[in-house]
Amino acid sequence: MNDYDVERMREVLARDGFDEAATADEADLIVINTCSVREKAESKVASSAGRYRELKLKRPGVVVAIGGCVAQQEGERLLKRIPVADFTFGPDQIPSLPELLGKRARDRRRFAATEVIDVEDYRFLTAEPRLGQVPVTALVTIQKGCDNHCAFCVVPATRGREVSRPWREVVDEVARFVAAGAREITLIGQNVNSYHGVGEGGGDDFAELLARVDEVPGLRRLRYTTSHPHDFTEKVADAFRDLKTLCAWLHLPVQSGSSRTLKRMVRDYTREQYLRQIDYVRSVCPDISLSTDIIVGYPGETDSDFGETLSLLEAVQYDSIYSFEYSERPDTPALKLALRDNVPSEVKAQRLQQVQTLQKGVSTERLSRWVGREVEVLVEGDSARYPGQLCGRTTGNEMVNFAGPPSLVGQLVPVRITSMRSHTLVGESAQANHRLPVLA
Ligand code: SF4
Repeated sequence: MNDYDVERMREVLARDGFDEAATADEADLIVINTCSVREKAESKVASSAGRYRELKLKRPGVVVAIGGCVAQQEGERLLKRIPVADFTFGPDQIPSLPELLGKRARDRRRFAATEVIDVEDYRFLTAEPRLGQVPVTALVTIQKGCDNHCAFCVVPATRGREVSRPWREVVDEVARFVAAGAREITLIGQNVNSYHGVGEGGGDDFAELLARVDEVPGLRRLRYTTSHPHDFTEKVADAFRDLKTLCAWLHLPVQSGSSRTLKRMVRDYTREQYLRQIDYVRSVCPDISLSTDIIVGYPGETDSDFGETLSLLEAVQYDSIYSFEYSERPDTPALKLALRDNVPSEVKAQRLQQVQTLQKGVSTERLSRWVGREVEVLVEGDSARYPGQLCGRTTGNEMVNFAGPPSLVGQLVPVRITSMRSHTLVGESAQANHRLPVLA
């Protein structure tokens, strides 16, 4: 979501006559985008803003603006903590960036622009992809905000109520990205499964939206994130079987393997319901790659609760996970529910390590299933890590490095997997020695 916001800021500013500077030293405007989901991310804001103190001393006319969820949440307080900041602005204010810059120049006063736009008045920014200037994989937003109340989460407080984008806008934007050169689209939202976009022909649910996007000519791959198990239906799961472009990859955050903890998190599903969903998804798409989010050390999490998280990881066999220690965030329901952050930090650290050690073995085992098989890779570009090689992803989102000509970028290429590194696959492109056809 943050990457998407940055892209929209870039477009809004470009329309207002800004060009991108090569370095901060050359910039007239520096925008710092922030995330408040984790405590660590938030503390990074002050240190990255601090870097521009000297620059402001040398060139006082440089404007430093802080956007994103921390800015939304902290507003004026952030201005006090970060003297170098000229103004702060929340995610809903991105379209107004030029006006905010005008206000700063005119009034010469620092301010916080954190108004959340009402559901009825919210309009999605339209992306303007340019031919040949878009990456092979692009993001298209389908909703903003969230109506859930997960007790650990600050998103509803920073991004407001859920608004679904009209399906016609989504389909048109996907088509524009594809026409400009993108081959894979990821539909993004805080809880895409609760999508209920309107448009001619009435409201669509998420499965119907997927079916519409699947029909966009030239689209080769479709993904989505993030899902909430409470709203993940069999109809949505069936799309893995029925749609030609939908990738065999699902990120379905479980957060905890303990039904007791899930209830305290206000997640509205149980461990058993979640496991039934996984079984169903695998019944319609047996080779699907699965990932999830795990929080350890949630308030009141006992050894037995934690044991259930470990056993769930063993039961599901995810391809990858994102795991975090719980940290208390301002404005979350957990605080209002008076859930005390009472798991000692050393216990959290120990649990996190146990989760990561277990998952490392599972991920390695899962990744190894591709060795010796031929997979279809969407080539994204040069490998950043392995000079002279290309990189791309399988339908299951596994990264593959292999040798091949640059002309393969943007194409679906059959690659035989020969080995694996820690998190990636290594392959040989049949195209490199002209034996197999490219699936363009
Ligand atoms: S579904 Fe829960 S975790 Fe996800 S954005 Fe909404 S409140 Fe946060």
